[in-house]
Amino acid sequence: RPKALIVMQDRVFPEQFGPAELERLHTLADVGPDPSPLSELDSPAARARLADAEVLITSWGCPRLDGDRLAAAPRLQAVFHCAGTVRSLVSDELWARGIRVTTAAEENAEPVAQFTFAAIVFAGKKAPFLAQAARSHREDWAYKHRNRAQLGNVDRTIGLIGFSRIGARVAQRLLSLQVQTLVYDPFVDADRIAAAGARRVELDELLTSSDVVSVHAPQLPSTRHMLAAPQLALMRDGATLINTSRGSLVDTTALEAECSSGRLDAILDVTDPEPLPAGSILYDLPNVMITPHIAGSLGAETRLMSRRALTELARYTEGLPAE
Ligand code: NAD
Repeated sequence: RPKALIVMQDRVFPEQFGPAELERLHTLADVGPDPSPLSELDSPAARARLADAEVLITSWGCPRLDGDRLAAAPRLQAVFHCAGTVRSLVSDELWARGIRVTTAAEENAEPVAQFTFAAIVFAGKKAPFLAQAARSHREDWAYKHRNRAQLGNVDRTIGLIGFSRIGARVAQRLLSLQVQTLVYDPFVDADRIAAAGARRVELDELLTSSDVVSVHAPQLPSTRHMLAAPQLALMRDGATLINTSRGSLVDTTALEAECSSGRLDAILDVTDPEPLPAGSILYDLPNVMITPHIAGSLGAETRLMSRRALTELARYTEGLPAE
């Protein structure tokens, strides 16, 4: 059994490692008598434990594995991450040493796709906004009747920006609705998108043709504000923007203008900044629904990610390649 060290925020560990996961961890690796996680790797005590570690079990809160930290881990062979992106913990030095790194991004993508599908269905019924009206004892039937023809989830066009793990899963689920799905992703070819029942288009066509636009591209310098005032202006009157990706892909000031005029609706699981300042107008608009970055794995769902890490750890101990 390889010597393992657990590196994650204290609050994350009990959420991700229930009795069944802990038992499996103990069978697969030597975590010592006290498996309590480290949340930093810079103290002398942490460095002493790092010196022995052959594998790391990591999750949210693991610091970047580079420089002195990596030098302090001469036996390190593998990192099994119990969360989605590993961007915040990997380094060139880690790759140069050929250390195996596995992620649970697939397990994290699934709940985001489920959340997005639900948001698309709700957007079609204007459900979050009518619910808001009901909360102020103003069940907005007049609104509902006036716009009735625009409601519903049949014959609508859904635009997905990014045919990512999440975007592709959303496209798959949209097959259960009678909708047309458009995808903008400059790095995925049209055949793969067509195989998922969708059509590859350029961004402008997606924006002008969609009733719902859902963002699934990653946060990169090139995607910052990819939806700014000129792009949002292309969206149809009454369309809904869904963002479960990262707040920085959308220009918040431009979105505030489009939502406060009532032209666009928005369902935002992520914002820029996150959280929004207490005075942000987006909190008060009846046509904006904000959730606090909950689309990904949450609570019990996060165990699916630790189980993925344990499966990868098992493969490592059996001498098999990562899945
Ligand atoms: P991924 O890494 O699987 O895929 C990224 C995709 O975006 C690729 O297909 C790439 O070709 C495409 N892409 C890159 N640049 C693009 C551009 N300029 N325009 C359009 N497409 C572009 O991504 P993923 O794992 O599905 O994650 C998607 C997003 O969701 C990420 O931003 C991630 O951080 C976010 N996320 C959010 C939550 C949450 O809780 N809300 C949870 C998990 C992931």
